[in-house]
Amino acid sequence: MGKRLLIFGPPGAGKGTHAARLASDLGIPYLATGDMLRAAIASGSAAGREAEKYIRLGELVPDHVVIALLEERLTLPDAADGFLLDGFPRTVAQAERLARRLASRGEHLDGVVALEADEDVLVARLSGRFICPRCGRTYNRLLRPPRAEGVCDACGASLTQRPDDTVAAVRHRLREHRAKTEALMAFFRSVGWPVRSVPSVGEVDEVYGRIRKVAEA
Ligand code: AMP
Repeated sequence: MGKRLLIFGPPGAGKGTHAARLASDLGIPYLATGDMLRAAIASGSAAGREAEKYIRLGELVPDHVVIALLEERLTLPDAADGFLLDGFPRTVAQAERLARRLASRGEHLDGVVALEADEDVLVARLSGRFICPRCGRTYNRLLRPPRAEGVCDACGASLTQRPDDTVAAVRHRLREHRAKTEALMAFFRSVGWPVRSVPSVGEVDEVYGRIRKVAEA
């Protein structure tokens, strides 16, 4: 039986890095609303066109857009028996929607893995992040630099930065996250979703080990 899990934490806490690995190790699909929105933008769909202006500014995309995308994804057969959600819920309205969906199907959430890190660490991590637009590999100027600056080791393409990874957009995203976190945590507690905090500091494998342990608890 697969688990239904959320990975929660501020932008830059390492959700993307660890969550894909965790989902694969647990044999459940990895559902990241940020990825879904970027795919919608790339496809030129109506949802993508609406989302783009918010993402560019580091603002949250309106609930109805994100909820529609996620609900569509959750109806695919691979998510019937478990999933790892990354980046959702980000508002109480989104969390309520998820709780209602689970309750109506007689399902429950197994746990929330909450990653924690200091703001300065988060800003340095995110504003140093670069992505290869051709093969998708990610780099970090501080933590995982490419061999030649600005060039993908794997395929040689020029690296790009996400528009919402500039220092100004990152600070804005962190403020948004902080403003929403308290209410979300209170909601998680009120519906009995177990929240397990994990410090996201130290070596990548060390942090992953902590995450795996609480996810399997
Ligand atoms: P992420 O890849 O999770 O950092 O998300 C990138 C951006 O997509 C965020 O800064 C938001 O603009 C948007 N986004 C992703 N997930 C959500 C969500 N659940 N609700 C609203 N906006 C979202």
